Amino acid sequence: MTLSVRSLTHIYDTGSQQEPALNNVSFELSKRELTAVVGPSGCGKSTLLSLVAGLRPIQSGSVQLNGVELKGCTALQMQRHRQQIGIIFQSHKLMPFLNTAENVLIGAEASTALPVSNRLAKVESLLMSVGMIGHFLKFPRQLSGGQCQRVSVARAIANDPTIIIADEPTASLDFKSTRALVSLLLDIIKFRDIPLLMATHDSRIIEMADRVIQLDDGRVVANETIGKP
Ligand code: ADP
Repeated sequence: MTLSVRSLTHIYDTGSQQEPALNNVSFELSKRELTAVVGPSGCGKSTLLSLVAGLRPIQSGSVQLNGVELKGCTALQMQRHRQQIGIIFQSHKLMPFLNTAENVLIGAEASTALPVSNRLAKVESLLMSVGMIGHFLKFPRQLSGGQCQRVSVARAIANDPTIIIADEPTASLDFKSTRALVSLLLDIIKFRDIPLLMATHDSRIIEMADRVIQLDDGRVVANETIGKP
């Protein structure tokens, strides 16, 4: 088991009021599986992903990645946790003034383990694996939305993450690009033997998922394995 979430509860304190966002959420992720987190806007999807990604401190409950507990860890341990995570956002968040290779290099440079001399070769192999090797020198404005997301996938896996987290990554993509992106992510997690946790509203993704966790008002109301034909 790579990721285990137990009794996770989160309340935003806005100063004037307390805003409950997650209530006693528990689940586990399996390697090589896409787990979709679904539910209406405001049900807690982004909060859940941000806690698992180590972008906010855990208030109550437990998040363990590869057996390491996130609650109560130091800033340095939190940083190490984040280095193990490949994140893909709704918008690709590529740097507009950097070309494809340079945008991916940012991800590779985040890894201190990789010698500088090996980074270009790594970028080439990453772009090859997402089908973007022919677009090495293009800038984001010269690419389609689907192509930009592929580059952001290459950047997300540059650090050899042990889990990929994606927050509505297909929200601005058409049907063909959505299926292509999710198929690509499925190939990547199977090849790398890691899990994928994805928040989505998109029914087209739900049918490609291995497991669906449904949130409502911060609670898990369903956690189901999807039978594949
Ligand atoms: P989703 O991603 O499913 O739309 P969120 O995790 O963004 O849901 O939000 C869950 C709840 O927490 C909502 O009621 C939202 O208003 C509240 N919330 C989210 N972010 C904040 C914040 N920074 N401050 C206060 N309340 C927040």
